[in-house]
Amino acid sequence: MTAALAARDVVKRFGSFTALDGVSLEVSPGSIFGLLGPNGSGKSTLIRIFCGSLRPTAGSASVLGFDAVRESEALRQGIGYMSQAFSLYRDLTVEENLEFFGRAYSVPDRGARIDEVIELLGLPPYRDRRAQHLSGGWRQRLALGCALLHRPRLLFLDEPTAGIDPVARRDLWNLLFDLAASGTTLFVTTHYMDEAERCDRVAYIYAGRLLVDGPPETLKALPEVTPERHRRVAIRGGNATAVFRALHGAPGVVEATVFGAEVHAVLGPGVEPVVVARFLAERGLPVSDVVPAPPSLEDVFVTMTRRSRG
Ligand code: ADP
Ligand code: MG
Repeated sequence: MTAALAARDVVKRFGSFTALDGVSLEVSPGSIFGLLGPNGSGKSTLIRIFCGSLRPTAGSASVLGFDAVRESEALRQGIGYMSQAFSLYRDLTVEENLEFFGRAYSVPDRGARIDEVIELLGLPPYRDRRAQHLSGGWRQRLALGCALLHRPRLLFLDEPTAGIDPVARRDLWNLLFDLAASGTTLFVTTHYMDEAERCDRVAYIYAGRLLVDGPPETLKALPEVTPERHRRVAIRGGNATAVFRALHGAPGVVEATVFGAEVHAVLGPGVEPVVVARFLAERGLPVSDVVPAPPSLEDVFVTMTRRSRG
């Protein structure tokens, strides 16, 4: 199957600053691809290159079979872009915003399609409300509605859930799953690990370089993530913050971090979990369990970032 989206050694420089440093990736049709990375790592720049609004300094990008530079006009009809910035008209109502985008894209059967999108996004109660008076979650839904009105086969969503509440976040993701199930390819940037887990494939970008790329389960199983002969454990049933402090610098403990009520630790070669439990008990910190814990995506990204820093 040909990729819906592909970047090959994309470099983008702004003056002497390198924002993207040889990025290559492929996204298969109908899948959800998640791009994570700290602020300023190049996520939005990459999306703008795919959308044809920014020219790469070197390398190439193709979208739905079109070259993002030479055929940017042709690819535009096939894609939707929900930008990170507020992209709606504040003074216009929900319906008027959709009307505006519908005209801009010459959507056929515009009235019926707008009704359909309002229905799909659960926007009927807000039809006549001005965009500026919508809460964050509803505003993002409207922005999504505007981006998908012309039935794009591929949607770019740049931090669509930033700053919205957990319920709105879950609802928005359910919409994204529906879209993917009906064949739309989704390219999503986010800072949320739970959202990364929901993607078919995730990539992590750091200072313009793609450090890892693959399905979440594959990334967690990478040998680099858990060093040879080391083990990852969860320490349960104790005072997590006190345990964390006690483990800092403890012999054989390579790393420790608090994870809710648990402490997750990486133990060096030959360090048995029972030794850790005993070490803690001797310091007046009894715990109920020290059990194997698979790495999280956060562990993957942290490890890869440290490796790249050298
Ligand atoms: P992200 O979306 O991951 O936060 P961006 O892609 O927006 O990152 O930005 C990557 C880097 O490129 C940042 O350091 C940003 O300041 C820089 N940058 C982005 N656009 C421009 C531009 N038009 N001119 C100069 N620098 C830019
Ligand atoms: Mg950005």
